[in-house]
Amino acid sequence: MTNKLKYFVANWKMYGHLKSLKSLDKVVKFQKKNKKAKKIKIVYCPPFTLLYPFVQKLKNSNIKTGAQNCSFESKYGPPTGSINAKMIKSLKCEYVIIGHSEKRAKGESDQIINKKIQSALKNKLKVILCIGETLSQRKKRKTKKILFNQLNRCLKKIENKNKIIVAYEPIWSIGSGLIPKSKDLEKTLNHIEIFLINKMRFKNPIILYGGSVNPKNIMLLKKVSYLDGFLIGGASQNSNKFIDIIKKTFN
Ligand code: PEP
Repeated sequence: MTNKLKYFVANWKMYGHLKSLKSLDKVVKFQKKNKKAKKIKIVYCPPFTLLYPFVQKLKNSNIKTGAQNCSFESKYGPPTGSINAKMIKSLKCEYVIIGHSEKRAKGESDQIINKKIQSALKNKLKVILCIGETLSQRKKRKTKKILFNQLNRCLKKIENKNKIIVAYEPIWSIGSGLIPKSKDLEKTLNHIEIFLINKMRFKNPIILYGGSVNPKNIMLLKKVSYLDGFLIGGASQNSNKFIDIIKKTFN
């Protein structure tokens, strides 16, 4: 296993119900029994409705739980339908995904994301910040500029850098079955790493890749440098596929 491939974050998106909890058994068993799996970090991010059942189910394992979003409001208050970082933390969740492109597509700006990160950190949650470019931005060779702008704005005045994981998720890759060419991905990840260290003052940046990771393409992806792990959507909802992806990074 590449030393750095440590994080396997499962984003269940808007899927799952109470019966889906059963599918966690296999992953819990795998993490407990497999020597190499004991050394990695698995984080499940189910929809809000399943957060507490997941925390309960996983409490005797090494597997952590995270939310897929949080409100930028730190205090309790009237925004009906919103859930804040304090509520998430109160369930003993440890992580929250912020800035997913599926939220950005519904109007979430970098400024709002910045406020959400501040609120999450204030409530002692670890943040998985998603950044990524659209296909048309990529075709116009604007990827680097777009990512640097997102990082600059989303991380403005954020102090606690060691609680932030950055997930590079090209928007055109999410759910499409497409992944970037290894050489291109490596170049982009290197740009992100240098930017985080030199401009954002990160000491040891943790960078994940997300977008159509599956048991087939993991053989290519695991060889890419500057990676600390993966944010996995569709494939993570199937325990066999999820375990397969993780196992294949061990060889
Ligand atoms: C995601 O939604 O963060 C994601 C990476 O999805 P998928 O793996 O399905 O492309």
